[in-house]
Amino acid sequence: MTQVALLWLRSDLRLQDNQALSWAVEHGYKVLPYYHHNEHSDEWQRGGASKWWLHYALQDLEEQITQLGGQLLLGNPEYTSADAIQEVLQQHQVRAVLWNRCYEPHRIKEDTQIKAALKSQGYQVKSFNSNTLFDPTKTFNKSGSPFKVFTPFWKSLAQQEVAYAEPLDETSISWASPQLQRRLDDLSLLPTIGWDAGMHSSWEVSRSAGLARLGQFSQARAIVYGDYRDRPDLEGTSKLSPYLHFGQLGPREVLHQLRSLSHPDVESGITRQLFWREFGQHLLYHFPHSPTQALYEKYQLFPWEENDQFLRAWQRGETGYPIVDAGMRELWTTGWMHNRVRMIVGSLLVKHLLQPWQAGAEWFWDTLVDADLGNNTMGWQWIAGSGADGAPYFRVFNPITQGQKFDITGDYVRKWCPELAHLPNKYLHCPFDAPDLELRAAGIILGRNYPAPIIGHKEGRQKALDAFAAFKEISA
Ligand SMILES: Cc1cc2nc3c(=O)[nH]c(=O)nc-3n(C[C@H](O)[C@H](O)[C@H](O)COP(=O)(O)OP(=O)(O)OC[C@H]3O[C@@H](n4cnc5c(N)ncnc54)[C@H](O)[C@@H]3O)c2cc1C
Repeated sequence: MTQVALLWLRSDLRLQDNQALSWAVEHGYKVLPYYHHNEHSDEWQRGGASKWWLHYALQDLEEQITQLGGQLLLGNPEYTSADAIQEVLQQHQVRAVLWNRCYEPHRIKEDTQIKAALKSQGYQVKSFNSNTLFDPTKTFNKSGSPFKVFTPFWKSLAQQEVAYAEPLDETSISWASPQLQRRLDDLSLLPTIGWDAGMHSSWEVSRSAGLARLGQFSQARAIVYGDYRDRPDLEGTSKLSPYLHFGQLGPREVLHQLRSLSHPDVESGITRQLFWREFGQHLLYHFPHSPTQALYEKYQLFPWEENDQFLRAWQRGETGYPIVDAGMRELWTTGWMHNRVRMIVGSLLVKHLLQPWQAGAEWFWDTLVDADLGNNTMGWQWIAGSGADGAPYFRVFNPITQGQKFDITGDYVRKWCPELAHLPNKYLHCPFDAPDLELRAAGIILGRNYPAPIIGHKEGRQKALDAFAAFKEISA
């Protein structure tokens, strides 16, 4: 009789480039695909935007599996991961339990316990590496330590061969039938109040949409990515991040597609960014304290000036700096923000306003559709200067010149801050410098229909420099 393998899907919501699935097929198992969303015991509960994406990604995966004759089994959301698996095992004749490894610290802890328990019950348990290009547990620098700087990491790994997955003939998968029935709606992933209209109009959450995006990007924009990647007013980047985070696209299939273009600008541009993602997972694995604490311990004691009013104004896109407000509103509406703008908004929060980077990271965690513990942590620690390859403390982004330099047409600010749409470009990124006549002509009353700046740029910059310089002295 053919034996059954439980395929526990997590951040790998795809059938291709999925090593755990390929192994099951190669070894002649019937596959029981399984997903478990647990609201109660995960340390890092998914934020609202991530749950929204997850709902549609699971719906898409369910449809793919159903078309092939199988059925996705959903675990009991009221149970812990361990208990939910046990419930499934009691109802089905399973021989092997398979999954692709995740590198979030709480996942590693849970996986280790589940693996030990299942093995002691006599199940065959196997885990694979499909969510990153290289196995972070085996990646070290020449002196045998984890990499803490990106460039040597990139130089070392970019040379190494990536084993590309052979395409899987999906019609060859033999499916096991689930005995338990649970509906996707039972997971309650969608919001109860409708704040998601902007996300619906911004995204198509399916693997085929991700593949189409990858195809169009490779054909039309990958080679010129370096010229446009910093321009939030243009579609210069791929917007593949949520598809990669949820594993609707595998990192190796994306890399393979990009490298098939055989172009040096692709390698030094977009491919390099894919290795930043890899670096984020590497840091998360080797420095599991870093999602909540400074990667370098000495930065842990930095005297932040926590202020709820500052934080709220920043979250709502009401700081009075147009590029920052545009970014925060783009995030709230679409669940995504351009990378350059992520750096600008982060710098204002952490430097000018001296708010803890963790508060920014938490807000991003809740509002990003691509919220990813490795990348988010790396991005925020970079801004705060407390992590690997961090920005030096004296780097304080100027939100006015950054806006002028990168939102060159002004289309980005005009789209997300329509109240400023009639200002001429000269004042679009600094309405507070516009003469009264210009403001009146554009219909703007500062402090009434667009905020006055939350802090003056010069004052905020100086405050940050003083605070960071003083801290550097005492922590040296
Ligand atoms: C404060 C801050 C927080 C961030 N939080 C997240 C997060 O939660 N999730 C997330 O996926 N990215 C995060 N990033 C990284 C980056 O902003 C996004 O990956 C990128 O904007 C996604 O857009 P894209 O797919 O168009 O990227 P592209 O420029 O098209 O790059 C292609 C892929 O490479 C990876 N990538 C690109 N830039 C980076 C980077 N700087 N760091 C890590 N990976 C990168 C992503 O997987 C991305 O999809 C953060 C950056 C900052 C500064």
